[in-house]
Amino acid sequence: MNNRAPTNNDSTRRWECPWCGGDAQNTTNVVLLDSRACDCGAVAIAGPQIDSDEIIDAAIDYFHITTRPESRGCDALFLQDIERSGIEIREGVLTQDPEAPAPWATIRHLWFRRQKAGDYAVWRKKDSIDWSTLAGSP
Ligand SMILES: [Zn+2]
Repeated sequence: MNNRAPTNNDSTRRWECPWCGGDAQNTTNVVLLDSRACDCGAVAIAGPQIDSDEIIDAAIDYFHITTRPESRGCDALFLQDIERSGIEIREGVLTQDPEAPAPWATIRHLWFRRQKAGDYAVWRKKDSIDWSTLAGSP
C-alpha cells in the first residue's frame, strides 16, 4: 500500500473512524473535497458545513449510488437513497478552517460505510442523525 496520506499532528483527531476508532489514513479518489478512507472500509468526506450538499454529492459518486429522479435537489432524499443502497452514515467531528471566510470555516466530516449484514438495526437504535441539519437549510 502506497496511498498513505501525509499525517499531521492536529490535536483534533479529525479522521477518527466512528466505527473502529482508528485514524483513517488512506487517500481516496474523491477529488473536490478532503477525504480519507479507513482500513475498516469507512470513508470520511469533509467539507464546509454550509456546503453539506457537496459532501452528499461526493458520497453518491464515491459509492456509485443510484438516486431517484425526485431526489434531485433534496439532500434528505439523497441521504435516504444512500442508506437504501446499504451505506451507513455517521456524523464525525466539526473542525474550523482558519483560512476560510466565516460562513465556510466550519468543516463537517461525514462518514460512510457499506453496512455489514446485521448491524443496521443496532446502529439505528444507538445513534440518531438529525436529518434536518444534515441536509442543510434551503
Ligand atoms: Zn475504521
